[in-house]
Amino acid sequence: MVSENRHDLPTIEGESQPFWDAAKEHRFLIARCGSCERVHHYPRPFCPYCWSEDVAWVEASGRATLYTYSTVFMNDMPPFRDRLPYLAAVVDLEEGPRVMTNLVDVDSSDLEIGMPLEVAYQQISPDVTVPVFRPAGSSAPAA
Ligand code: ZN
Repeated sequence: MVSENRHDLPTIEGESQPFWDAAKEHRFLIARCGSCERVHHYPRPFCPYCWSEDVAWVEASGRATLYTYSTVFMNDMPPFRDRLPYLAAVVDLEEGPRVMTNLVDVDSSDLEIGMPLEVAYQQISPDVTVPVFRPAGSSAPAA
């Protein structure tokens, strides 16, 4: 795997390692603050609302609603050009955080803002599995 020629692999660091480890196990982790009890995503070692460092991982339900999306027709960076066209989206997790992601197993003509979604997982390298979303109730596996 020639990772230096890829632009889709995350930089996995200490504070995000548990998130990526869980994604490999098909679990979506978010962080909950023990002080103000709000949840956040992306992972941070402190609460972005009250700055407490009393932050713990919790497993999200995997349910979300579609906030917005865009069909990407042009992206010359590998490996994205091999995936064209693809659906970039922002979704609202049931728990609250708004997350940037990709949509799979759906045609853009079937998308509606606010529609229910569920998490799915795409393995993009031997070490990295990425959470993506698809319409709730989809039975087809993520591509
Ligand atoms: Zn807090």
